[in-house]
Amino acid sequence: MFIVLLGAPGSGKGTVGKIIAEDLKLAHISTGDLFRENLKNETELGKEAKQYMDKGELVPDEVTIKMLKERLNKADVENGAVLDGFPRTKNQAISLDNMLNQTKAKVDMALNIEVPFDEIVERIANRRSCRGCTEIYNVVFNPPKTEGICDKCGGELYQREDQKPEVVKNRLKVYSESAEELINYYENAKILYSAKAGDKVGKTSYDVAKDVEEYIKNK
Ligand code: AMP
Repeated sequence: MFIVLLGAPGSGKGTVGKIIAEDLKLAHISTGDLFRENLKNETELGKEAKQYMDKGELVPDEVTIKMLKERLNKADVENGAVLDGFPRTKNQAISLDNMLNQTKAKVDMALNIEVPFDEIVERIANRRSCRGCTEIYNVVFNPPKTEGICDKCGGELYQREDQKPEVVKNRLKVYSESAEELINYYENAKILYSAKAGDKVGKTSYDVAKDVEEYIKNK
């Protein structure tokens, strides 16, 4: 089974994706994490991606699609995967369909997580990520047991360059520009599942993940 996660940066895609992937025994693939890993290891790909990431722009499709293709060929994707942050353009969505088609697989569900933008800006400002295992914390709602230290792996927590307010605004703008065509794409394919989340509707990422699992079970 392949599930793609739509939704703005900061909508909780990462958290929802990790829960669903673990519960349904699927690989969790975040293209943002893959880029950050390349950045950390100072690979050529990382160096190329950095100029776009630091500004909150999308890395060109050609580079991103090639990276995802390599990741999909790894053994842990045998049962399928939750794709977090891919596709971000219609061109990527079409490429994904073509890639999966080669192994007679398909995208089974596109999960669109909707959170109001004002909530997102605040959330991202409070967000800290682990340099070691990429676990995400919120210093207000989900703080680590020890400030600045990851509960899971003891790694250092930090605020990503692209979690700073100016870059966040640009990321949301970039997201808005491509969101509609992606949502339409999966709506037409009749596999779109939309979930409202956030404080105003009283739904956490955990609630969304459990709703989705329930939906899949009863399908
Ligand atoms: P994320 O952690 O998913 O918000 O991704 C962080 C950054 O990585 C984005 O702002 C983009 O610069 C880049 N990125 C991640 N996924 C993609 C994608 N599918 N297409 C293009 N750029 C991406």
